[in-house]
Amino acid sequence: MDIARKVLADLDKELQWVHETYRDLHRHPELSLEETRTSALVAGKLEEFGYQVQHLGGTGVVGVLDNGPGRTVVARADMDALPVQEATGLDYASENDGVMHACGHDVHVAALLGAAKLLADHRTEWSGTYIALFQPAEETAQGSAAMVADGLADKIPAPDVAFAQHVMGLPAGELQTIAGPVLSAGDSIRITVHGTGAHGSMPQLSVDPVVLAASIVMRLQSVVSREVQPGEFAVLTIGSVQVGAKSNIIADKATLLLNLRSYDNAVRETLIKAVERIVRGECAAAGSPKEPEFEYYDQFPLTTNDAAVTARVSAAFEAYFGAVGSAGRQSASEDFSRIPDAFGVPYTFWLLGGMDPQACKEGKTAPNHSPHFAPVIEPTLARGVEAMAVAALSELA
Ligand code: ZN
Ligand code: ZN
Repeated sequence: MDIARKVLADLDKELQWVHETYRDLHRHPELSLEETRTSALVAGKLEEFGYQVQHLGGTGVVGVLDNGPGRTVVARADMDALPVQEATGLDYASENDGVMHACGHDVHVAALLGAAKLLADHRTEWSGTYIALFQPAEETAQGSAAMVADGLADKIPAPDVAFAQHVMGLPAGELQTIAGPVLSAGDSIRITVHGTGAHGSMPQLSVDPVVLAASIVMRLQSVVSREVQPGEFAVLTIGSVQVGAKSNIIADKATLLLNLRSYDNAVRETLIKAVERIVRGECAAAGSPKEPEFEYYDQFPLTTNDAAVTARVSAAFEAYFGAVGSAGRQSASEDFSRIPDAFGVPYTFWLLGGMDPQACKEGKTAPNHSPHFAPVIEPTLARGVEAMAVAALSELA
């Protein structure tokens, strides 16, 4: 990792603008698919660093640095913020009412820009192609799909490998990796089931959607306990049931909102098939006059780290940082994997600690998406830049 040390020797000099960029991004958060200011800032920096810049999928930005023969690496940062009213009291807190970088995507952007600059400035130390990709709308699972739909696979050189990182509630400076599934697949389903409305005093004329929805809710509880292999991770939550408005009116339909989480595509298929089968079966049993409707939304793919790539990156992290932690499987979800999947290439996604270590020990840190979420600037940003550069150089040096 001598080359990584050479490339990162100037890190201290660069950290000043990285910090300024981070504070600027934090002050000016933008919601999913509305990242116009962020996107312009990123594109401007990449051009300044000597990257070939393209805009893709609305506010998405890709910078390509072609530096001779060798492997091609794509590193991704997400840019969107959340509809959260910031309550951190930081002097660089959000100036956009009701919008906040409460998931640390500003850390990801600033860190990737820092790595992109260092790799460009030290291009004599390595060979290959480095691609810095900034995607919109991770929080709504729309951004990577929008870039892929906009022709990503035809518009940039095909990578050999892809990387991404996420700042989490770990002690600042700590890195954690894991081979295999790291983030769950997530699916939301809006289910509409139909009954026949009637006067509350004449149930014999109705097909009661309240009774139908109640049967469905109870029967769905058996999916995880009876259909998924014991030991496999699966969550089926019914977050909402809406039916009827008045005690003496039998409604004519019910709407259920489901959330599914899994770590395995076969388990995900089992869950979806079971939900559809049970809902159709209960509708038939109730004498429902119309087929139920299933609308899938907020769908996050599984994030499953390639074993060989993860081993190479972990070894590079260990050589450079001395130690790297082991991540547990996270129940959160991400849409990053759609980018490597568009090319059919392996990837690894690691966790970056961002919290004051003492506060971590005392359990006083606010989690991602909290209005109090406040990563400490250092060593979080330095480590974020280093991790991105070290991982890239493990392929390009
Ligand atoms: Zn988030
Ligand atoms: Zn996030």
